[in-house]
Amino acid sequence: MRIANHVVDLVGNTPLVKLNKVVQPGSGLVAAKVEYLNPGGSSKDRIATRMIDAAEASGELKPGGTIVEPTSGNTGVGLALVAQQRGYKCVFVCPDKVAEDKRNVLRAYGAEVVVCPTAVPPEHPDSYYNVSDRLTRDIPGAWKPNQYANPNGPLSHYETTGPEIWRDTDGTVTHFVAGVGTGGTITGTGRYLKEISDGRVKVVGVDPEGSVYSGGSGRPYLVEGVGEDFWPDAYDPTVPDEIVAVSDADSFEMTRRLAREEGLLVGGSCGMAVVAALRIAEREGSDAVVVVLLPDGGRGYLSKIFNDDWMSSYGFLRTPLDGVARTEST
Ligand code: PMP
Repeated sequence: MRIANHVVDLVGNTPLVKLNKVVQPGSGLVAAKVEYLNPGGSSKDRIATRMIDAAEASGELKPGGTIVEPTSGNTGVGLALVAQQRGYKCVFVCPDKVAEDKRNVLRAYGAEVVVCPTAVPPEHPDSYYNVSDRLTRDIPGAWKPNQYANPNGPLSHYETTGPEIWRDTDGTVTHFVAGVGTGGTITGTGRYLKEISDGRVKVVGVDPEGSVYSGGSGRPYLVEGVGEDFWPDAYDPTVPDEIVAVSDADSFEMTRRLAREEGLLVGGSCGMAVVAALRIAEREGSDAVVVVLLPDGGRGYLSKIFNDDWMSSYGFLRTPLDGVARTEST
């Protein structure tokens, strides 16, 4: 019988699927690694088990303990799955730009959610980094995985995501493209693919215009889960061969096209990564095999990216969802 013992055992081994309609003729092959098919719905399921295993082994997390983490939602879901399995409590701290739908998902899994303002610097007492530090100090038995610095984040991608891509492309991958948030995905996966290919695979990091990785000042952007206003330890800047910056408008437009033209209902950081992957595939030509990682699904963004009114309120709307220019209804 093929019956998993627990949903946690179903993390990883996500498929690659070719992108078709959004790819320019003459470009290389573009294959998307569909991480929303993880049981918690994102690539962050991968890092959760490894971080918790390591904390149990080191004694930092004890039976009955509480996991406290600043998370845009996806890491929270991954941690909540493992916490349920092993009897831990979860308190997650989110910036207020994270969609209400995503916060409700965390609550549904049994976590407590604390919301903090996005528009304050990291050193501000109300920043989500500082609030989570305070909670970790105040709650007895609390442990903070700290995905921004925890080496088990990049390691989980080194041990799973990288080998899966190598295996599923029969070693033909030429470029790996991924958005950079904590930097764990690009660092772990990129390092593995470079090592196994003796440096042949080129690694391309993608971030929102304004974020520090592409030389920005950390000014706000609306794509969730990627870009930073500081340099996390989980990110090794020697791994990417280049960093591509993509605007919010282009990221969201591509996210909508992926749902409509490729049947992939995914999040905004996926649209962002695909914009960069398509540029690389066009530049490198038909011999390239470009793998782009799509971190999460689109259901958490229905009231934003897939809502024409929200898109117009920021001046992002190019094509309404019904394909017809909108008239005011009474
Ligand atoms: N996209 C989304 C939606 C995310 O939640 C994250 C994680 N913060 C990323 C991309 C980036 O992944 P990483 O943290 O491994 O750089």
